[in-house]
Amino acid sequence: MERIYLDYAATTPIHPEVVKAMLPYFADVFGNPSGIYSCGQEAKGAIEEARVKVANLIGAQGEEIVFTSGGTEADNFALKGIAYANEPKGNHIISTSIEHHAVIESCRFLERRGFNITYLPVDEYGLVDPDDVKRAITDKTILISVMHANNEIGTIEPIAEIGQIAREAGVYFHTDAVQVVGHRPVEVNKLGVDLLAMSAHKFYGPKGVGALYIRKGTRLVSFMHGGGQERRRRASTENVPGIVGLGKAVELARQGMTEEAERLTYLRDKLSKGIRERIDHIRLNGHPQKRLPNNVNVNIDFVEGESMCLNLDLEGICVSTGSACSSATLEPSHVLLALGLSPEQAHGSLRLTLGRWTTEEEVERVLEVLPRVIAKLRAMSPLLKSH
Ligand code: PLP
Repeated sequence: MERIYLDYAATTPIHPEVVKAMLPYFADVFGNPSGIYSCGQEAKGAIEEARVKVANLIGAQGEEIVFTSGGTEADNFALKGIAYANEPKGNHIISTSIEHHAVIESCRFLERRGFNITYLPVDEYGLVDPDDVKRAITDKTILISVMHANNEIGTIEPIAEIGQIAREAGVYFHTDAVQVVGHRPVEVNKLGVDLLAMSAHKFYGPKGVGALYIRKGTRLVSFMHGGGQERRRRASTENVPGIVGLGKAVELARQGMTEEAERLTYLRDKLSKGIRERIDHIRLNGHPQKRLPNNVNVNIDFVEGESMCLNLDLEGICVSTGSACSSATLEPSHVLLALGLSPEQAHGSLRLTLGRWTTEEEVERVLEVLPRVIAKLRAMSPLLKSH
C-alpha cells in the first residue's frame, strides 16, 4: 500500500538536496567551529554562510540571527529573554489564546513568576483583532507575541497591523513564524517585528535546528550560559550539520515559492471542497481565505478525531487531529476551543496538511477513502445515536 502523508504541518520529510549538503559536516568537516585550525574555521565558514541565507530570506542582517535547537527554543528565548531583560520597565505581556504550546507554556512559566499575561481572544476564524492588541497595551507592557500563522487551523494573523501598533507604543513584538517561513514571503521590516521564530523541519530541513531573529538593539537576556557562541547569546557548540541543512532548506525554499504556494492552494481547495461535498455535518475550521496554502482543518460531527486518524492510518493515510492522538493529552485543542467549538466538537477535528510531494492523485484517493471511513465510524457512533 502506498503511504499518503498529509501531516506536513507536523514535520516535513527532509529534502534529498539538504541531506547531501549536510553530509560532509558529520565526518569530514567535523571540527569545532570555535577552533582556530582550518577544519574548525571551515565549519565556522559554513555556519556563517547559512546565517546569511537565513537573514536574506527574511530581510534581516546576519548578525540578527541566532541559531537554536528549533522553534520551541526560539520561542522560549524570545519570551523569557525579553521578560527578564525588561522587567525593570514592566511585567505585562500580551499574547493570544491560540499560540503554540512553546509560547503558551513560556507565558504560563512567566505568569508563575510574577508576570501578567493577557491572552487575547480570537474570532470564529481564529483571527486576532489588532484593536484588541491596542486596547490591551498598558504602561507596563514589554512584549506582544502573536503567531504569524496557526499550526492547527492555518489562519494567517494580521502581523503587519499589529507590528505598526507595537512600534507606535514602543513595545517589543515577537512572532512565531514557524509555519510560515520557507512557505510564504516573510520580511521582518514589513511586518514590524523585533523577534521572529523559525524551524528547519517545517520546510524540508532537519529536525532539531531553528533560528531566532533578534532585531539589532533589542534588549534580551540569554538563557543558555556557557561558551561564547552565537555572539554570547546562545552558548553550546553549534549544530554544524543542522545549521548547514537549515541554510540549504532556505535556499531551496526561495526557488519557486510562489509557484509551490499556488499549486498547494489548488490542491487544498480541491480537498476542502471535495470533503465538504462528500460528507455532511462538517465545518471548515480557520479562515476561508486568510489561511496557509497547505492547510485543511475540518470538524466532522459524530466521530472522534482519534478514530478517524487511526482508521485512515490503516488505509495508509497519515493525518492529524486536534484531540488526543496528536497532542498526547486527552485535552481538546485549545485552538479549537478558542474558536468557540465545544469540547465534543473539538474532539472531532481532522487536520490535513499538504506539501512538496503531495499529488493530485493522492488528494483524489483521500476523497475516496475519507467518506467511507466516516460512514463506517458514524454507523458505530454513540454520538450519532444520541443525536
Ligand atoms: N511553533 C509552531 C507554530 C509550530 O508549529 C511548532 C512545531 O510544531 C513549534 C513552534 C515548535 O517547533 P520545533 O518543533 O522546531 O520545536
